[in-house]
Amino acid sequence: MKNLKLIHAAGLLLALVLPLRGADPDSAALKLHRELLTIDTHCDTPLHMLDTTWDIGAVHPSGTRDRGKIDLTRMENGNLDALFFAAFVSQRALTEQNYREARAAAEHLIGLTEGMLKKYPDRIRLAATPAEIRQNERDGVLSACVGIENGFALGHDLAALQAFRARGVRYVTLCHTRDNDICDSSTDPGADSWGGLSPFGRQVIAEMNRLGILVDLSHASDEAFFQALAASKTPIFASHSCARALCNHPRNLSDEMLKALAATGGVMQMCILSEYVKAIPANARREAAQDSLDAIYGTWESLREPVARKAKREAWNEVDRLYPRTLATVADVCDHIDHVVKLVGIDYIGIGTDFDGGGGVNGCNEVSQMCNITAELLRRGYSREDLAKIWGGNFLRVFTRALEAAEAE
Ligand SMILES: [Zn+2]
Repeated sequence: MKNLKLIHAAGLLLALVLPLRGADPDSAALKLHRELLTIDTHCDTPLHMLDTTWDIGAVHPSGTRDRGKIDLTRMENGNLDALFFAAFVSQRALTEQNYREARAAAEHLIGLTEGMLKKYPDRIRLAATPAEIRQNERDGVLSACVGIENGFALGHDLAALQAFRARGVRYVTLCHTRDNDICDSSTDPGADSWGGLSPFGRQVIAEMNRLGILVDLSHASDEAFFQALAASKTPIFASHSCARALCNHPRNLSDEMLKALAATGGVMQMCILSEYVKAIPANARREAAQDSLDAIYGTWESLREPVARKAKREAWNEVDRLYPRTLATVADVCDHIDHVVKLVGIDYIGIGTDFDGGGGVNGCNEVSQMCNITAELLRRGYSREDLAKIWGGNFLRVFTRALEAAEAE
């Protein structure tokens, strides 16, 4: 870990050590974790930035939903070197007006990430290439990378990719929870709009390849996944997904998908959203209380207005207090990593937390606790070299291949 980060970390060492479950992780794990280049390929923190009273550079107390799971201090203390800030847009009907609004919403969220970079230039810098991620780490500053979650943000306009690329966007998740004009979603059962990729989706992938923008297949249907894998000239990735063999959710990747992904040199970035990590029996009272909040305030996806989001968050925190949620654990997360490694090898797994988009498990429920994954993997016999691959090396291989192929065009 580098000079500036050490300075930031020094005064707040206690804040780091305290959340890490007493004596664990041991100092060897902490030391190794600090030395690794660490990358998280998915968070929805720009949604937090919509609340202009919230400052990502301020020190926030841990633990409550309204404080978020990511901020610069906790990134520095937890040694997360590089983070993809996703501009997320929810899926709506395919109309011209909605296309315009989706594109504007994505542009606005990217603008919020750019605002953070302008405000804290000595703490976090844009990284649009693997070389820039490595340089920032050497310089002791964090890296902000930019992704778009949901190709709906393109507004059915191929030229949008070029414009987004110019603002640093390096991946686009093709769809979200419902089918769009690019492909089918894994969680829109019965819709099956395209039987996988649409004709426009094939054009989008070709243009992404040409520009060196990574194709992200988290959220895509199985058919769309296999078709995109065949259509893309460069390896693809899943920015935040888990293994279906361990948690049977359509969002997760089957063994067949993982084998196909590895055969093309891609990577699955392990998501730590509890529901995708482990099926835990529902707490009926909690669910009923949450449903009533959706009825009163609207769903999280539909709520963009900061004041409305804040009001719902406060009510949500009260539900959390009354009916605490049972979360999957760091050990459950590492079971998925073990599974992928046993199935296809160490070169095809990374980390994409989905913090601030629902991500978080017991023991790793905010960015300052990421070292607990390293500690658990060390206990399971993973080597330093293995951990370097999981925490960034594997993803950087895929990222590099996409940029090199684009330059060769
Ligand atoms: Zn997602």
